[in-house]
Amino acid sequence: MRRVHCYCCESSASELWAEENGFKMVRCLNCGLLYVNPMPDEREIDRAAQTGLHQGQEKLDVSGQYGGVAKVENYIRILREIYGDDFFRGKPFKWLDIGCGYGEFMEALIREGGPQCDVRGSEPSEVKSASARQRGLKVSFLDLETVRERFDYVSLLNVYSHLPNPIETLAGVRKLLNAGGELLIETGDAANLERSDYPDKLFLPDHLSFASEEIVCRILEKIGFKIVAVTRLHHPAYRKWTAWDPVIYWMQQRLRGRLGLRRKRVYPYRDLWIRAALRAA
Ligand SMILES: [Zn+2]
Repeated sequence: MRRVHCYCCESSASELWAEENGFKMVRCLNCGLLYVNPMPDEREIDRAAQTGLHQGQEKLDVSGQYGGVAKVENYIRILREIYGDDFFRGKPFKWLDIGCGYGEFMEALIREGGPQCDVRGSEPSEVKSASARQRGLKVSFLDLETVRERFDYVSLLNVYSHLPNPIETLAGVRKLLNAGGELLIETGDAANLERSDYPDKLFLPDHLSFASEEIVCRILEKIGFKIVAVTRLHHPAYRKWTAWDPVIYWMQQRLRGRLGLRRKRVYPYRDLWIRAALRAA
């Protein structure tokens, strides 16, 4: 275990936000980032990424399983929402999905892009990458520093919050893109929540930090990207809102404000999808 400071603004001023499974998550008093401190050693983080097992007070197994057709079709819906219906039709592209898991997102890309697209995946978990290869997907564990190939698109879905230092990783990812290439990042928007408003277990130390739209966009701009679009989708940890929920939520917030109570932040559209393009050097 090692003590760290905020990777976003480098401040070491923080307050305790939550404790779980023998780990502490703190909030940076300067920028609001939530991060695990002290953090497991790099070797332990890499080992856990390969095995899916995290050791805290309890052993946490995050291997999961292949999501099948339902997950692939959900990704196709998301791709169309983010890029538009015909974005990938008829144009060849090279795509690398980092942390591709069982490969459901790769399958969605292949279905959208057709046979002329080249979709590759990198996955540290041996169980997940073997499962993806069995379904004919091109998946291995790539050492990003030594990869010579360049891609038109690189995606990191549900990867950001597991990285010990996202700035370092994303700066490395930048070098994998062709001129005019694009990055796609999916992560939750949780940095501005109180622990009691976070709807789930935190899964520490599998998760190492929680950011927000502002924090991720600031980091991307700092390392040479320009933001193309941010799409907010319903986060599965929250109940889906019915038509009346926004009105009820607004009234509750006003009432809590009048009574001097803390406003609860249950806004369910906390699944962030950020498209960022490589800025010309
Ligand atoms: Zn900070």
